[in-house]
Amino acid sequence: MRENQAQLAIYGGRPVRASLLPYGLHHLEDDDVKAVVSVLRSAWLTTGPKIEEFEQRFASFVGTKEAVAVNSGTAALHAAMHAIGVGPGDEVIVPALTFVATANSVIFQGAKPVFVDVNPETLLIDPLAVEEKITDRTKAIVAVDYAGQPCDYDSLRYIARKYNLGLIADACHSLGGKYKGRSVGSLADLSTFSFHPVKHITTGEGGMITTDDAKLAQRMRVFRNHGITTEFRQREQRGTWLYEMVDLGYNYRITDFQCALGMSQLRKLPDLVARRQEIARSYDAALSEIPAISSLNKSKEVDHAYHLYVIRLDLSKLQVSRKDIYIALRAEGIGVNVHYLPVYLHPFYIEKFGTGPGLCPVAEAAYEQILSIPIYPKMTRTDVDDVVCGLTKVISAFLRL
Ligand SMILES: *Cc1c(COP(=O)(O)O)cnc(C)c1O
Repeated sequence: MRENQAQLAIYGGRPVRASLLPYGLHHLEDDDVKAVVSVLRSAWLTTGPKIEEFEQRFASFVGTKEAVAVNSGTAALHAAMHAIGVGPGDEVIVPALTFVATANSVIFQGAKPVFVDVNPETLLIDPLAVEEKITDRTKAIVAVDYAGQPCDYDSLRYIARKYNLGLIADACHSLGGKYKGRSVGSLADLSTFSFHPVKHITTGEGGMITTDDAKLAQRMRVFRNHGITTEFRQREQRGTWLYEMVDLGYNYRITDFQCALGMSQLRKLPDLVARRQEIARSYDAALSEIPAISSLNKSKEVDHAYHLYVIRLDLSKLQVSRKDIYIALRAEGIGVNVHYLPVYLHPFYIEKFGTGPGLCPVAEAAYEQILSIPIYPKMTRTDVDDVVCGLTKVISAFLRL
């Protein structure tokens, strides 16, 4: 064994860190806690005034007329699919490299997800590949701002308009980002967000859809409330018990104390994104010195929101596989992760849709090479240095000589 291999934590050497640094972590402070507690002491735990307040502040942050709050990013995607009328017999184009919920939401509506490949440099949905997959059943395109980099929305909007398709931005990675100076959330017909703890801001679980279309927003407000047109508080105010269910909906409501947390978090969002960008700049500089590692390309026309910092391994220069690098880094205390296995390679998709290897070669090849390294606002300078140190240690130990 090479001397530098013997020093690796997997072979009993001293790890870079004593405890594991996660790849993502929420950012909560005392004022966030206070905001939640004050609502817990109020009259409305759910369907109260905080919902609309959060929606209005969120809409004004991204620059849309409407925002609809729901209880997860997945509910946001489902509501968006329903709002634009996706149904049985329809096809919806989704990128291969995303979280399963993006494609699952299409299936919730009885429609079929059609997977398209990604650009090899950015791993974002490839507009040319999108156009090739359009049929007379295609109803919508979902763009995913993978890792936090906004997609090529000018091209996607052009294609959507040309074929009369809905355009949904799954912006769960890119809150706070921009494309050609325009805020994420205002770039598609509907944009969806998640407030899961690893995302830019959190409400525990939660989600939001933004749009300029008041009709779509109204449909989603009914959809999140069992298909009922009024909420309990509105009926109380009007002095009536009568409610009408006009559509089949779900209980996708978010609570008032979550919305209070959301507002408190939203105030910090610019700082939180700036900190992520700062960490990314440190990584950009440090990683360019490490052989066999590269970062994804970033367009000059975007402000990247860095939900993830994804590195690629040049496996031809390494003695071991991505899995071995992953295990070695975790042993060093660097909590790397992999985002994502192409959705259609999950057993459910293989069984239900007969998908399999070969469908999207770029995404499949990328999947073998990618690792997400830790990035979140609470990381200290030492934490960032530890990640670089761990990568340097593990990669140099496994470089082909
Ligand atoms: C997090 C995420 C979702 C789902 O959000 P939840 O709030 O966990 O339901 C959907 N799409 C993408 C790309 C995500 O990262």
